[in-house]
Amino acid sequence: MPPGTRGLAGTRKLKKLGLRASHTADVFLDDVRVPGSCLLGDKESLDRRLARAREGQRATKQAAMRTFELSRPAVGAQAIGIARAAYEYALEYAKNRVQFGRPIIENQAVAFALADMRTEIDAARLLVWRAAWMGRNERPFGAGEGSMSKLKAGEVAVSVTEKAVQILGGAGYLREHPVERMFRDAKIYTIFEGTSEIQRLVIARAISGVQIR
Ligand SMILES: Cc1cc2nc3c(=O)[nH]c(=O)nc-3n(C[C@H](O)[C@H](O)[C@H](O)COP(=O)(O)OP(=O)(O)OC[C@H]3O[C@@H](n4cnc5c(N)ncnc54)[C@H](O)[C@@H]3O)c2cc1C
Repeated sequence: MPPGTRGLAGTRKLKKLGLRASHTADVFLDDVRVPGSCLLGDKESLDRRLARAREGQRATKQAAMRTFELSRPAVGAQAIGIARAAYEYALEYAKNRVQFGRPIIENQAVAFALADMRTEIDAARLLVWRAAWMGRNERPFGAGEGSMSKLKAGEVAVSVTEKAVQILGGAGYLREHPVERMFRDAKIYTIFEGTSEIQRLVIARAISGVQIR
């Protein structure tokens, strides 16, 4: 809607833990009349929806859920990008950082953490690729595969970035290195586009057919 539309109000920019390159603010709609020039899609579809609503019929819930299943792999892909960047940075750091006379990667504790990070990233990426392929090829999401991909990718982004901070030790906590920002940026991926709990709800309902709450 154009700025100045009656009933449309924004507020101050909100301060966030991470994702600071993207602005976030509340938008309030109070008895707003939306001009026809702002219509997305065609007028016939809108008229059909309005007629359904006036008859008291519910909107096509499955269409909305399918849209989410299609958009969630794309959000998962973003999360994997953050995880991958943190993993690659930590891997290089571990090969170069010398403590007690040897690169820290020669300690199994560090090398195994990196092995887990890479394994989890690859697992999440495969889930995203599967869901994206299913969406592109119009396969039904019988087990909430779109939600699965976003759930796994978001949780992997959080755990991998946390491990990356740990591998850098004190340096990981400083803004001199990018992993502290990646750690902060990753957390939103278990919250927006449906929280991790809501992804589990979608998957649980899809696999069971039960209306779990
Ligand atoms: C930076 C940022 C960007 C955002 N961008 C967008 C955007 O572009 N578009 C948009 O529409 N929204 C956006 N959001 C909103 C975001 O999608 C919501 O914050 C998110 O869906 C969670 O809703 P909520 O904050 O109301 O939490 P609540 O619904 O209050 O949930 C709080 C907690 O309770 C849990 N919970 C709630 N209900 C259930 C349930 N039935 N079962 C189990 N657990 C439950 C949740 O998982 C969560 O852990 C954004 C938020 C942020 C912070």
